[in-house]
Amino acid sequence: MVLTMNQSEGPLTPANAVQSDRGASAPLDFIRQIITDDLAAGAHTHIATRFPPEPNGYLHIGHAKSICLNFGVALEYRGTCNLRLDDTNPTKEDVEYVEAIKEDVRWLGFTWNAELYASDYFEQLYGFAVTLIQRGLAYVDSLTADQIREYRGTLTQPGRNSPYRDRSSEESLDLFGRMRAGEFPDGAHVLRAKIDMASPNLNMRDPALYRIRHASHHRTGDAWCIYPMYDYAHPLSDAIEGITHSLCTLEFEDHRPLYDWLVEHLIEGERPQQIEFARLNLNYTVMSKRKLLQLVQQKHVSGWDDPRMPTISGLRRRGYTPESIRGFCSRIGMAKKENVIDVAQLEHSVREDLNKRAPRVMVVLDPLKVVITNYPEGQVEEVDVINNPEDPSAGTRKVAFSRELYVERDDFMEDPPNKFFRLAPGREVRLRCAYFVKCQGVVKDASGKVIELRCTYDPATRGGDAPDGRRVKATLHWVSAAHALPVRVRLYDRLFSVEDAEATQEGQTFLDHLNPTSLQILTACQAEESLREAQEMSRYQFERLGYFCVDPDSRSGELIFNRTVSLRDTWSKIARKNP
Ligand code: ATP
Ligand code: MG
Repeated sequence: MVLTMNQSEGPLTPANAVQSDRGASAPLDFIRQIITDDLAAGAHTHIATRFPPEPNGYLHIGHAKSICLNFGVALEYRGTCNLRLDDTNPTKEDVEYVEAIKEDVRWLGFTWNAELYASDYFEQLYGFAVTLIQRGLAYVDSLTADQIREYRGTLTQPGRNSPYRDRSSEESLDLFGRMRAGEFPDGAHVLRAKIDMASPNLNMRDPALYRIRHASHHRTGDAWCIYPMYDYAHPLSDAIEGITHSLCTLEFEDHRPLYDWLVEHLIEGERPQQIEFARLNLNYTVMSKRKLLQLVQQKHVSGWDDPRMPTISGLRRRGYTPESIRGFCSRIGMAKKENVIDVAQLEHSVREDLNKRAPRVMVVLDPLKVVITNYPEGQVEEVDVINNPEDPSAGTRKVAFSRELYVERDDFMEDPPNKFFRLAPGREVRLRCAYFVKCQGVVKDASGKVIELRCTYDPATRGGDAPDGRRVKATLHWVSAAHALPVRVRLYDRLFSVEDAEATQEGQTFLDHLNPTSLQILTACQAEESLREAQEMSRYQFERLGYFCVDPDSRSGELIFNRTVSLRDTWSKIARKNP
């Protein structure tokens, strides 16, 4: 028998997006309120958003928040959302990242209106720059990078005008053309907007628009040796695509005046509007692509999709469902102020989703042999086990029971403390859906380690209940030794051992906070036979142990399971205490 869960990972339709993720009656967050008001005021006839990743790394759970927002808004307002790769920095970007980004967005359940690249607009962006120069709104500066920094001033001191600021438009145009033609080395000149060197906002002190960079680009090859700055390319790309609401994170708030300056000077008619929201921060992890890249390059993890990574591909491999990630993003909401979300809340989302859908199976992680001395040798019977108590339609399956079984080593104690109710000498427990068994003795090896339990069973308790009404205090999972399937299991813990991995002492880096026991590999686990045909990435609840999924490293006959999350829900407890 093959047990796979009902995987509904196809694209969303507008109707189910509204219902499944945000709830039709949920109050509007501040962004949706702005959009609703804009529509009511007749400012737009069609809502257009974009998700604009830079292809310099894999997407992480923070990006998922932005994806759910941008695509979610488009679906709810019957608008469109573009996937725009913001590829203006050729030295850090790569097609590997482009492909990974597309796969992740698709997997999350979203379909883009168009796949677009900022580099598609390089010619148009160049044309806009020429227009700015002609109108006296931009100039070629020939100061060195250090000088430009020095002239810029500080938060408390105004900047000074560059001696090149008053160059004629003709001279700037000529130089800009020659910059493009490749006449100058990197850093010789930059194109700057002519705004206000005394502005209290440093972003408005004649920001750079173009820099010379003799580097091959993953899409445009060697066609260009000047590249637009992000702050210049982004608003204009939005405008070119007819984006109505350009949703971005708070660190861009101070850049908004430049965004507006550019579209006001260059775009006729309907203009895009930038709105900022708080980025998602999670405890016990890091979320900057630069730091994630470092973890990969220095091999602290096995790759971008290591199940401990907060990347979408890591969470996928860990066993997270798209529904659980979208549910999480919807639950945390949209704030205007930065905060830190407890990773327990993310774990709660996947637990809640898998509880409804994942079939239950029995797997023993750390096996201890049990011999049922009064069970006939060679006899095998099949007991009926419930596949999912949360889903009656999932039915039952047959599981083999025989004289020799495995139970979890830590379900037995030779000399138990008061509160331990599981197996111990003389103690009776229930084996899930099978029989009551009573421990009559133990077998030890030369070192004194318990290697086998001798038990008796009560044939009258078949199915798990005693006709005389006697009770037991524990129900254990088990597998029949002769039928068991050896499997490997990877147990994951938090990648960092402190809540805020970025908070470091002098001389430390975030790497000093790595949790040395974030991965534990168990090689001698024993699973029930039904898992023999388990498919890659299918998800299960291992009874009493947590949710697990089949890792893609599995080979036929050599299954590897990743623990997605344990069963213990710390978040519900926290939420109950602080409603
Ligand atoms: P990082 O800081 O992790 O390197 P980034 O902001 O440079 O990320 P981009 O590829 O530029 O990464 O991000 C694409 C979009 O995702 C942007 O609109 C950005 O605002 C948004 N985004 C990035 N990180 C987060 C986050 N933690 N929470 C919400 N949105 C985010
Ligand atoms: Mg960025």
